[in-house]
Amino acid sequence: MIELRNLSVHYGRAIAVNDVSLSFPSGTVNCIIGSNGAGKSTILRTISGLVRPSSGQIVFEGEPIQNLTPKQIVERGIAHVPEGRHVFPELTVEENLKIGAYLRADAAAVKRDFDAICGAFPRLAERRKQFANTLSGGEQQMLAIGRAIMAAPRLVLMDEPSMGLSPVMVATMGDIIRSINAEGRSVLLVEQNANVALSLSEDAAVLEQGRISLAGKAALMKDDEHVRVAYIGV
Ligand code: ATP
Repeated sequence: MIELRNLSVHYGRAIAVNDVSLSFPSGTVNCIIGSNGAGKSTILRTISGLVRPSSGQIVFEGEPIQNLTPKQIVERGIAHVPEGRHVFPELTVEENLKIGAYLRADAAAVKRDFDAICGAFPRLAERRKQFANTLSGGEQQMLAIGRAIMAAPRLVLMDEPSMGLSPVMVATMGDIIRSINAEGRSVLLVEQNANVALSLSEDAAVLEQGRISLAGKAALMKDDEHVRVAYIGV
């Protein structure tokens, strides 16, 4: 369970997240949808400890985490796949993946996860000696996800996983997200692509100018008139 309690985040004087309260159960895929600048990335960056909240709490598995460092938050079991991939361009695919496990001491378990990721992402396995900056955009997105999984997280935060991908690749990404969840990991997606996010998710929330305007079951939200007009475009 990840819970945001009255979370507010400022950049200087500007408020990016305004008194957000949300909770998502463990073991499911959930999403926050919203348009450009709504504050979605800021929420994920705050959960990961990259940005400090100005007030409120973030509770993960019953413990407040908003004062922990990013490293401690990874150790608690939360991994972040940032927007725009951010792989290490001058490291190989294999090196990028291994960096994801830098806090783990159990070398045998790390090796097992590395092999499992190579099995799940054959395109990465074929390219394991290739530099990350020579991968296609979709392959870099897979690598960023694989790197996050190497941390053995229980919760995976994903910032716009469908961005910049072809329709075929978006469908593949959907399968990847479902399989990550099938391994018992929770996933919190933030997306502008409401259609994709809602079809993958159990629970969903709509963020507008830093505030939650709607929250509930993703399946029902697809039929909501405002969501359809503003975020699905039908
Ligand atoms: P997008 O989908 O376009 O990435 P978003 O919903 O993820 O948008 P955020 O990136 O969280 O939105 O941004 C929320 C607001 O905070 C925006 O007005 C943005 O300009 C502002 N903001 C984000 N990062 C910073 C920063 N480092 N310094 C100052 N303002 C920022």
